[in-house]
Amino acid sequence: MGIRFYAALWVCKAVRLALRVLKRGGTTLPGKLAFKLCPDILARLSSGVDTLIITGTNGKTTTSRMAEQIMLSARVPCIANRSGANLMSGVVTEFADNVNLFGKKRLHHAVIECDEAAFAVVTKYLKPRAIAVTNIFRDQLDRYGEVTHTLECIRTGIKNSAGAALCLNADCPLTASLAQSAAGEVTYFGMNVPSDNASGALSDVPRCLRCGGSYEYDFRTFAHLGGWRCTDCDSRRPEPDVAVSAVASRGADETRAHFSAFGEALEITVPLPGDYNLYNAATALCVTHAMGIDSGTAAAGIEQAHCGFGRMERFDLGDISVRMILVKNPAGCDRALDYLTGISEAHTCVFCLNDNIADGTDISWIWDAGFERLSFSEGKRFAVSGTRAEDMALRLKYAGAAEEDILKIRSEAQLLDFIERSGENIYILPTYTAMLSLRDKLGARCGKERFWR
Ligand SMILES: [Zn+2]
Repeated sequence: MGIRFYAALWVCKAVRLALRVLKRGGTTLPGKLAFKLCPDILARLSSGVDTLIITGTNGKTTTSRMAEQIMLSARVPCIANRSGANLMSGVVTEFADNVNLFGKKRLHHAVIECDEAAFAVVTKYLKPRAIAVTNIFRDQLDRYGEVTHTLECIRTGIKNSAGAALCLNADCPLTASLAQSAAGEVTYFGMNVPSDNASGALSDVPRCLRCGGSYEYDFRTFAHLGGWRCTDCDSRRPEPDVAVSAVASRGADETRAHFSAFGEALEITVPLPGDYNLYNAATALCVTHAMGIDSGTAAAGIEQAHCGFGRMERFDLGDISVRMILVKNPAGCDRALDYLTGISEAHTCVFCLNDNIADGTDISWIWDAGFERLSFSEGKRFAVSGTRAEDMALRLKYAGAAEEDILKIRSEAQLLDFIERSGENIYILPTYTAMLSLRDKLGARCGKERFWR
């Protein structure tokens, strides 16, 4: 291999090491420099590495963690961009970490989460064995037309990946339309039953992509997802190869559901709440099947995918360690509070209370949790945040906290600044949606890869 390749590789490794020594997480800069020095570095680093790419609007991270756990359950160790650094630079950094100074590869499998726009560029160099597209939605703040742009970025990436098996969401007309651009095998995943949140009021796809006619739905799962068909042409939801056939139980921490996967019936306890995580599980089953893993092994992998997701997850921000403990009901909250009372070192507790649907819109449960068990010594500060910060502050006051010791922090950016400047370790107790958003932003700030598993 050429001198440019080694120069780029060594710069990448040196910068990564320097950032680590300085305790500055960095999964972006090393890869960015390496890519500048040697544009085809990713092609070289990824050749001979069997790679699975997960892209789409929602569920990339969760699906990637499930797919990674499935690979581990099948005894296939793999590299993965767990930090969520899912642009070209982050992907290059991850693959560079997998080789020694002489370019020799350590692992030969990869699970890569990829941003939808970056996907078109990454696939110029990285040739995946399988691709999963989770779904395509308009992000809240995106401009009109953004959905079509996202669709075309992903289509370009698929055209770049002629040899890849493609796994598509059957329930999403946008995603399913990508099959037209596939050169290889296409399989579909979906839900055969409506979700617990099947309002279907908003649609990013009001008109048939092929003929401009209108879509009809036998059932809905989320927004424009469901059992769709065009009233004017023969365009319709393809039959999924992996499907959620019934939801057995919906718990605060997990969802038990029946799946059919390539003709096999499976009952899986998905260790996350919310029906959208059933989609993530179906995606992971589908894409790991394309990697040659049997459905039974995959099901076991999904059930073990407990790690992360805000459950005692740790992030290092400089010298400060931040631990996140997801709370959403009195019993779980009491366990977390017991844990906090057992900590002897100085620390600050942060409570983030949201009342979105995934959190539970009724937050009265905080009055059933035993916040009284916290120690309220003089000058001990607490921070509250989230859409229901006021309620949380009131709860702490009734539990015994002095009003002046309760800091109400409005925005997430302010909260992160507060954490960084706190000078002591932080324990965050967030509800579900607060956790999802905070862990993303904490991850971005600390450069991550420091997950406590
Ligand atoms: Zn049509």
